[in-house]
Amino acid sequence: MIRIFLLVISLYSFSALAINTVLIENVTIVSSHLQAAKLRMNVLLDDGRIAQITQNKITNYALKIDGSGKFLTPGIMDSHAHVSSIPGMGFGVEPMATMHPKIAEEYYQQQPKSFLYYGVTQIVDPNPGVNFKHFISADIHPDYLRCEVITTEKTFPYVEKTDDLSRSMFTYLVDENAKESARNSVESIVTDIANSGAACIKIYFEDGYGNASQWPTLSPKTLQRIKLSAKKANLPILAHANALDMQQLALAANVDIIAHGMWNWGKYRRDKQLPKEIKEKLNRVIANELGYMPTQRVIAGLGEVMLPDIVSSPEFLSVTPKSLIDWYKTSEAQWFKEELRVGFDGMGDESIAAAFLYGRIGKGNKVISYLSKAKHPILLASDFPGSPSFANQPGLTTFQEMKAMVDAGLSLSEVLEAATINNAKKFKIENNYGTVEVGKIANLLLLKNNPLGSIESWNSIDTIFLHGKPIHREELVVNK
Ligand SMILES: [Zn+2]
Repeated sequence: MIRIFLLVISLYSFSALAINTVLIENVTIVSSHLQAAKLRMNVLLDDGRIAQITQNKITNYALKIDGSGKFLTPGIMDSHAHVSSIPGMGFGVEPMATMHPKIAEEYYQQQPKSFLYYGVTQIVDPNPGVNFKHFISADIHPDYLRCEVITTEKTFPYVEKTDDLSRSMFTYLVDENAKESARNSVESIVTDIANSGAACIKIYFEDGYGNASQWPTLSPKTLQRIKLSAKKANLPILAHANALDMQQLALAANVDIIAHGMWNWGKYRRDKQLPKEIKEKLNRVIANELGYMPTQRVIAGLGEVMLPDIVSSPEFLSVTPKSLIDWYKTSEAQWFKEELRVGFDGMGDESIAAAFLYGRIGKGNKVISYLSKAKHPILLASDFPGSPSFANQPGLTTFQEMKAMVDAGLSLSEVLEAATINNAKKFKIENNYGTVEVGKIANLLLLKNNPLGSIESWNSIDTIFLHGKPIHREELVVNK
């Protein structure tokens, strides 16, 4: 009997897409709306949703999966991932990717599966550019939400793009002086964005990388107009800002979510407290109930790319096509490392890595820890790939961001919240996502180990449920 049953479960696969009702029997539910894990539950998925959760026997189903000894959680939501990007190459419209169309194609085919491999069933892409269609037209892919970027010709990120191809990523260019009725006014552009089906608006507060300040930012008047129009359209505003002065501008503009940690302040010492002005800023983040995306993998990716063995990471083999891994070993692929070396005045690779992995990560950790001690909800947001670094790979980076949260002092239940319900609430989709409750979309994970026991349990996925359809994790591996 047991043998036959094992055969049945090992056979469900993409071919099981026709199956409508799935019973997950005798499973432990781990979900942030519960005080404690619920043991020995039977969960019925019907027509893509969670139809029933009960301790009673369920007899009507098309497929039964034995959940004994396993853990059922909501699928992970990564609220900051750029699916147009190819790690190590760029946005997919930039020269390096256009020079290697076959590698790019193989990568794009695998990328949605790589996110699913690590249990990511919802993604917010804050800057989709032109290459996201590959993602949503894939047979299976995480549910896709996108923000659209509002910028002007004079402000970041448009101002930094020098070729027409890169500039073509920005569809919603505003003229700050345009009257409300004009086609390129803030009001018209926000309406266009809402009509396009976008889930949010992204604006950049960036006057220059690091300590530089060579670019103007959007005027307070423009920001006010964006806020007003976005509110009418019920679209949250996500701000890119990673320096103190830029995050202060974002706060003043009344945005809903701030992306990126605070990595540029003073000199890091493990035993040193956060500077007063940073604490004051964070207190306002807390008081205004702003969503906060630490995106520690941006910095980790910059540091790790300088490590000689990073391309040989065994984890890459599951999520990165062999052709792309091979390309990372060519001299052509070292262009970004070379840029970092120049930026650091020819410092050794190990010292550059340490500057990121120790000092800046350390500063980000202090910020995360300050917010979490105040019980402020943190959002899981990897900013995959974060830079042209090839150290960040799809899905894997999301998992690593969760591990970074633990390093910064979050408890495992806080990581669960960050990865599920906090994101769902901030992007106003908590009626459909974020917990294991009847009526919600059946984007779920069946884990072999308890995610409240160890962060590594998130890497023990047995089955991913996408709108109720079970997918065995092994089927998603790229280099089988
Ligand atoms: Zn980003």
